[in-house]
Amino acid sequence: MNEVLKASGLHRSYREAGADMVIIDDVALSVNAGEKVAIIGASGSGKSTLLNILGGLDKPDSGEVEVAGEALYRVSETRRSAIRNRHLGFVYQFHHLLNEFSALENVAMPLLIGRKGVAQARKEAAELLDQVGLAHRLKHKPGKLSGGERQRVAIARALVCRPACVLMDEPTGNLDRHTAQEVESYLDRLNRESGTAFITVTHDLGLAKRMDRAVEIVDGRLRSWSDQSS
Ligand code: ADP
Ligand code: MG
Repeated sequence: MNEVLKASGLHRSYREAGADMVIIDDVALSVNAGEKVAIIGASGSGKSTLLNILGGLDKPDSGEVEVAGEALYRVSETRRSAIRNRHLGFVYQFHHLLNEFSALENVAMPLLIGRKGVAQARKEAAELLDQVGLAHRLKHKPGKLSGGERQRVAIARALVCRPACVLMDEPTGNLDRHTAQEVESYLDRLNRESGTAFITVTHDLGLAKRMDRAVEIVDGRLRSWSDQSS
């Protein structure tokens, strides 16, 4: 089995008004290369908390996450950042693009941070933008793009370093239905063509159903979810 991400024994609680509130309680998750996994759960159930822990952005109280065989939380912050940059991509509900930079520059940025030469970075960024149907928008700044286009730039940026796994938090949550479908079809294509695994937090059960599998957070625990309505 070719695992790109493997988490086990995760716990996370927040101290709130003098009491510990357990958000993540003994969670384990393994994701294979190219697999599409949805994480669902009620609002406030801990989906974003879990995703951030899986992505090396929020330290668990205990437990470990391995990405491409490397432990995230046994290493220094510097090393963790390097593993993130090399093996993971992130997409959020709001695009988090840099408004002063063009689409091309935004997508090239992670490659430059990863010390690729400028010409090569721009070339690879342009290829990725072409793959999300934005070859004609390279020089546009985020403010001149539609919501769906901005989200496709964010997706191109997440994939440009050829990560093993992309973590997404409500990637289509801020888009109208039609645009969300369009973005989803680009995501599907990239998943097929690149073999990148996707872990997607969503409250859209239709989207969850279209993944390879879905897991649900209930009372801090993760359980497999299957749609009962069809
Ligand atoms: P979801 O993404 O499923 O809506 P979150 O992971 O954002 O849920 O939050 C889960 C719970 O943890 C919520 O009750 C939230 O209020 C709490 N929480 C999240 N972040 C913090 C924090 N930094 N400090 C205290 N409580 C937090
Ligand atoms: Mg959330």
